Amino acid sequence: MTEPTRYEVHHHPMLPPGFFYRHWTRNRGVVEAPGVAVIERERLRFVDACPPVGTEIMLEISHEGMAVYTVADIEAKEKADQEERERQEREADLRRREQANCDRAEAEAFNAALALPFRWSSAYKIHHAGLRSGGSGTGDFAKTVTHVRCDEPIAVGRLKRNAEALLCGAGEGQHWVADDKMRAGSGELFDRKVTCKACLAAAARMKAKAA
Ligand SMILES: [Zn+2]
Repeated sequence: MTEPTRYEVHHHPMLPPGFFYRHWTRNRGVVEAPGVAVIERERLRFVDACPPVGTEIMLEISHEGMAVYTVADIEAKEKADQEERERQEREADLRRREQANCDRAEAEAFNAALALPFRWSSAYKIHHAGLRSGGSGTGDFAKTVTHVRCDEPIAVGRLKRNAEALLCGAGEGQHWVADDKMRAGSGELFDRKVTCKACLAAAARMKAKAA
């Protein structure tokens, strides 16, 4: 998008002081005759080039001086700017979705490789205050771990867990446990990748025994 054409206009020595205050922002007018603009009954002369007679114009008084733009140019520029903003938003959204899909593929492959012989879900612990355990409480969950929560009672060798318990046995009775899911690009929820070292160690031991 090309910038709107700037038409310079002369400072009229007879303009009332209030005119400048009123026109500090853009104000509409029209090209009345060749080289002459009329803005709120005040006549301004173009320095050089002038749009055709009858063209709707806007006066802009800024630190750079007085200038006139055509309404068509200004509106085209605003439309182009709006379209550009929308294009950038769509692109950012697409990137977010693609990233979420990558995260999902990685989490699903990782979790499937644990080869746990029971139904389970990813879960995280919540303190009684309602804050996510390990998080800063400000929405930054970077340090929070994702556990394996047993969806059914398990008894594998000496390891026994009730349904709803965490595989690592952490935080029994001290925490509530909530599903730890993320949204894929399609909006579907998926289990986060397990990151609790104790849960992963227990899963590895089970896998070794089963082999
Ligand atoms: Zn754990």
